[in-house]
Amino acid sequence: MPPSKEERREALKDLYHEARACTRCPQLASTRTTVVFGSGNADADLMFVGEAPGKNEDEQGLPFVGQAGKLLDKLLSEIGLTRQDVFVVNTLKCRPPGNRDPAPVEIENCQDYLMRQLGLIQPTVVCTLGNFATKLLRADPTGITRLHGREEERVIGTRAVRLYPIFHPAAALYTPANVEVLRRDFARLPELLALGPPRQPGEEDPAPEPVQVPEPEMAPVVVDDRQLGLF
Ligand code: URA
Repeated sequence: MPPSKEERREALKDLYHEARACTRCPQLASTRTTVVFGSGNADADLMFVGEAPGKNEDEQGLPFVGQAGKLLDKLLSEIGLTRQDVFVVNTLKCRPPGNRDPAPVEIENCQDYLMRQLGLIQPTVVCTLGNFATKLLRADPTGITRLHGREEERVIGTRAVRLYPIFHPAAALYTPANVEVLRRDFARLPELLALGPPRQPGEEDPAPEPVQVPEPEMAPVVVDDRQLGLF
């Protein structure tokens, strides 16, 4: 029997406690204020994956609470969603000092938490924000400029999801033209959510629609008196 929604939620809390004590990256473990595990609806259909906590996130222990987070909230509200409808996480759970880029070894150390979050929350749409999350979850170095706004079905861990890379909101903070690109890409999210989950690995092909054999057109019966036995 697959775990119930409540069991997945409890397992997510256990994972949070585990991550809070993480020391896999010695530098990050010694410089962080908090581990920013992620927040939102533990049973969300839509999950956002950002890059790494910044200063505000590190202080408050929550993802996307600074300027980029405000833009994320605004774009969400424009499609009728709030943070309570979605789950927001980062590729790295700890702030890289000075907001430097995540190091490859840090992404590697941290990816197990992200994979387990995906397995427990079971979103149908995973929206990667920017290059780091996109490259990690696609296991491919193609950059966000080429990929943004194009959804694809991907198996991540054991589950198939609709992966949807878009620009990181921080990229739009100082370039207003990028806000419009983000807004357009965001506008497709309701449509992707409405598609429901993609077919899961091992799931049978949907039974083919029964073929409707058209009733043969009956040749008009020429009834004349003789055929009727009437003379
Ligand atoms: N940028 C991110 O990628 N994540 C945050 O949580 C905040 C800013």
